[in-house]
Amino acid sequence: MSWAKLKIRRKSAEQIDKMAASGQILASVFMEVRGMVEPGITTGEIDSRLETMIRDAGCTPSFKGYHGFPASACISVNEEVVHGIPGDRTLEEGDIVGIDIGLIKDGWHADSAETLPVGEVTGEAARLLEVTEESLWRAIGAIAPGRRLSVIGTAVETLAREEDFSVVETLVGHGIGQQMHEDPQVPNYRCFSMPDPVMDEGLVIAIEPMINVGTKRVVTLADGWTVVTADRKLSAHYEHTVAVTADGASVLTERPRRSVREAQ
Ligand code: MG
Ligand code: MG
Repeated sequence: MSWAKLKIRRKSAEQIDKMAASGQILASVFMEVRGMVEPGITTGEIDSRLETMIRDAGCTPSFKGYHGFPASACISVNEEVVHGIPGDRTLEEGDIVGIDIGLIKDGWHADSAETLPVGEVTGEAARLLEVTEESLWRAIGAIAPGRRLSVIGTAVETLAREEDFSVVETLVGHGIGQQMHEDPQVPNYRCFSMPDPVMDEGLVIAIEPMINVGTKRVVTLADGWTVVTADRKLSAHYEHTVAVTADGASVLTERPRRSVREAQ
């Protein structure tokens, strides 16, 4: 991708309001999903329940059928980084489960993810969740009109390194609007091989750090979807859809932060 070919579709205030409406429905779905995650539930059951919520709200689940993806959410357990396919797997005490959901309302997309503990988790797992969520919020805090996009990757990578974790580089965030994936790509690390545009008011992006306990390397399983860490150690993923505003950033999928420490 060359600089000249980068096609960023900036949104008007009115369009951002529509995206915020999509985002707030998705936020309410997540608030319900948090209550579903407990030992004994299958990932397929979580998926079918959240799909019903999305459709009952008059929205369309954007992942279902996307390049043939069979479900409404990507549900990724433990060493699974992203793109896990919901099914018969039963969540067990001590697992961590990443849930990534996209929906469309009135033609506008929202995309968000969080990784949740199943019952009591190890101290390392709890720290991974906290650090990954915090890295997303530090990235959001670094956004301002006139700054370059790379402040996001710098914020995520700096915190991950301080904590001796690694950042997945082969999967990145993205522009979002009437398409789920628009320009620009949004790396979670300092990347010198991708365009680094200046962020202007009206840019809307999905920021989605994926942080690993061990190696940053990932592989895709034979199902063609599920991405796992190469060393099969834990990984976590958080994502928000964020609009650049005159004075910073507006988190369109915002909901109360879930503190892992509080829950334990
Ligand atoms: Mg997502
Ligand atoms: Mg995304």
